[in-house]
Amino acid sequence: MNDDLSPHMRLTLGHLYPDQLNLYGDRGNILTLQRRCQLRNIELRVVELGIGDALAPDEYDMLFIGGGQDKEQAPVAQDLLEVKSIGLWAAIEDDIPVLAVCGGYQLFAHYYRPAEGPDMRGLGVFDAWTIHKGAQEPRCTGDIAIKWNGNTLVGFENHGGRTYLGTAKPLGKVLKGHGNNSEDHTEGAVYRNSFGTYMHGSLLPKNPHFADHLIALALARTYGRRDDPFTFLTPLDDTLEWEAHAFILERLGLYNAATDALRTYKGVGTILHLPKNQVSSSVNETL
Ligand code: GLN
Repeated sequence: MNDDLSPHMRLTLGHLYPDQLNLYGDRGNILTLQRRCQLRNIELRVVELGIGDALAPDEYDMLFIGGGQDKEQAPVAQDLLEVKSIGLWAAIEDDIPVLAVCGGYQLFAHYYRPAEGPDMRGLGVFDAWTIHKGAQEPRCTGDIAIKWNGNTLVGFENHGGRTYLGTAKPLGKVLKGHGNNSEDHTEGAVYRNSFGTYMHGSLLPKNPHFADHLIALALARTYGRRDDPFTFLTPLDDTLEWEAHAFILERLGLYNAATDALRTYKGVGTILHLPKNQVSSSVNETL
């Protein structure tokens, strides 16, 4: 065991609105982060923050917000602006790793125009906006695969809203699926260490390299470890995770990508290689 990681390594994750925004197993992302930390002897403490709870930026090392239906998003949007925005912005500008999924992702952009009712103003972290095209338009539903950081990410999406990016950088490029809007092949958005995505499923169990990316960013930020995270994030045996990942790629007909994923990771576990100068900045896409 890497004695660098004696139990004194602790991280705190703030789980935003677990009662309102928790669709398609989003809580599985938290369980995955907890388990992958635990296997490296890192304690990941989870604090739930609901409607009305203030957010003290220095108390958290990571943040997560899940997805939800339009009617759940409205009170969350109000609370994000009126109660949590100052704390959130302070943490985000200080490079806290954030994973925002679907409905949560939409509320981290400028606004969400639902099928019915008034616009929901968002935090504006991502220079993007979302428009629901109405109940008559088909929803963006199904398995999805994207190109991210020279690898693939897989998940499941179900959203009526279509997101359009302004200057925000996409998380990745759609290989199969709808992504942000079924038009421009972009998926998600990135600002500093904040990652927005439409991928539910939940996302992280089938994408251990992305889970480790978030953990490494948090450890680098909280413990000032600017060296290669590989030195302290010991590889895990992720055979099952990569077989599940490859299964989705195969189901989408992306056979080469599936073979690549299995070839790269099977038996060797997830090896995290972040270019040194990228440790504290966001994803470099290979679009
Ligand atoms: N309600 C939003 C939409 O339909 C988000 C859905 C979700 O989080 N899955 O687009």
